[in-house]
Amino acid sequence: MNNNVSEVCERVLYSKETIAQRCVEIGKQISEDYAGREVTLISILNGSFMFATDLIKNITVDCRIDFMQVSTYGVSSESSGNFVVKKDLSLDIEDKDVIIVEDIVDTGFTLHNLLDYLKKYKPKSIKLCTLIDKPHRRTIDVKTDYVGFTMEKNEFIVGYGLDYAQKYRNFPYIGVLKEEIYS
Ligand code: IMP
Ligand code: MG
Repeated sequence: MNNNVSEVCERVLYSKETIAQRCVEIGKQISEDYAGREVTLISILNGSFMFATDLIKNITVDCRIDFMQVSTYGVSSESSGNFVVKKDLSLDIEDKDVIIVEDIVDTGFTLHNLLDYLKKYKPKSIKLCTLIDKPHRRTIDVKTDYVGFTMEKNEFIVGYGLDYAQKYRNFPYIGVLKEEIYS
């Protein structure tokens, strides 16, 4: 199996420079919105690790970061599936302003379940920041507050933290996966 981007992706969708620019813009927006306050970022592993590291460098208010790893299995049209927390928070978020940092919001089930789960920790506020939003794929309503890029077409993308079968997270940009790789 080749790990060369040109052999894996049919094209680059968001370049390294384009992504870096959006991280600057979103970081600035968050810093303005939370001026004079402290914010706690929750980066959802594994997909958002690269985005979270670039985003946090552009946040100028006091901030903390923690990581969670979650999975949603067996999603159907009637249920939001079986939600499993594989790694829970280490920081206390009671009465804190929290921003969840995700790679992609697709059907919305992961974030819907996560928001419900985090309520028990009694945060003061929770906002959602996602690098990619695929609103046309949504089956459950989830409101995103900060969005890097909105995708109109349903294409499977990899790179910059995003994987296909745990591979290609290392690409510095986001590309559209060649159909021959997953079919
Ligand atoms: P959902 O919103 O619960 O459907 O799940 C979103 C998760 O699905 C993301 O965090 C990704 O891990 C994964 N995902 C959805 N679309 C893509 C894609 O195009 N490439 C890589 N992972 C994806
Ligand atoms: Mg994910």
